Amino acid sequence: MNKIIKTGLFGGFARAAFIDVTDMVNEEIKIHSLSPLATAALGRSLTMGAYVCANLKSPSDTFSITVNGGGPLGSIVIAGGDHALRGYVDNASVDLPLRADGHLDVGGGVGKDGFITVIKDLGLKEPYVGRCELVSGEIAEDFAKYLLVSEGIKNTAAFGVKVDKNGCIAAGGVVVEALPGITEDMLFILEDVMTNFSNVSDLVAEKGVKGIYDFYFSHLDAELYAEEDLTLRCNCSQEKIDSMIKGIGKQECEEILAERGYIEAVCHFCEKKYVYGKEELDKLWEK
Ligand SMILES: [Zn+2]
Repeated sequence: MNKIIKTGLFGGFARAAFIDVTDMVNEEIKIHSLSPLATAALGRSLTMGAYVCANLKSPSDTFSITVNGGGPLGSIVIAGGDHALRGYVDNASVDLPLRADGHLDVGGGVGKDGFITVIKDLGLKEPYVGRCELVSGEIAEDFAKYLLVSEGIKNTAAFGVKVDKNGCIAAGGVVVEALPGITEDMLFILEDVMTNFSNVSDLVAEKGVKGIYDFYFSHLDAELYAEEDLTLRCNCSQEKIDSMIKGIGKQECEEILAERGYIEAVCHFCEKKYVYGKEELDKLWEK
């Protein structure tokens, strides 16, 4: 199951979120034939996306996050709203040698020469756009810096993905936010607790996210707010692709048709194919 558990800490001077996207990552492996490296990068990004998604205020709010560090994986895009997520990585088959410590080289795959860009459509006149330079391409550090610099939220984040030859064993993480009025002592305790999460995917596999909360946080004057389910779901549709094809223009469509005999559009997120032959295109122009 994919889920996020939100809690208050220290009677309200901090809050935490515990995220499990293991099933979602296994679905993504099937959809995109992800390499282990792409699995780790997309899985960590989905963990980040789950956090952003679950903190939107209204079911009609939407978001997208793009991470582009110039590495061989290319851009990673996560989007969604209302507890549903979708995501892809440009180059899903890229793999790199393991790092000296035996871990997948996510930072090397993503690169750090670029930005994390977060766009939130909150139903206001203009969407919110936050942008921050990447730190390492390891995703959690990059997201933590984004939250601090762009949204003014003091936080620490740990994300991880554990893979073996059969797929994803565990994917998820922990985000802890300091709230106004927090004391130095509380910050010290939180920093100390967070040192346990350098291999957070092992803990997600062993204890589950509720178990992580119980073991490391429940004694910190904590309050369990909510456990919310998350799903992987694309929002592409025939109507959307129709209007995209219309945007190409009749003349150009007819040229492609004459050359290839059909027009094919593939959704980046779910890889669903939309195919248009002469008959479908004629119908489209009639509408
Ligand atoms: Zn789709």
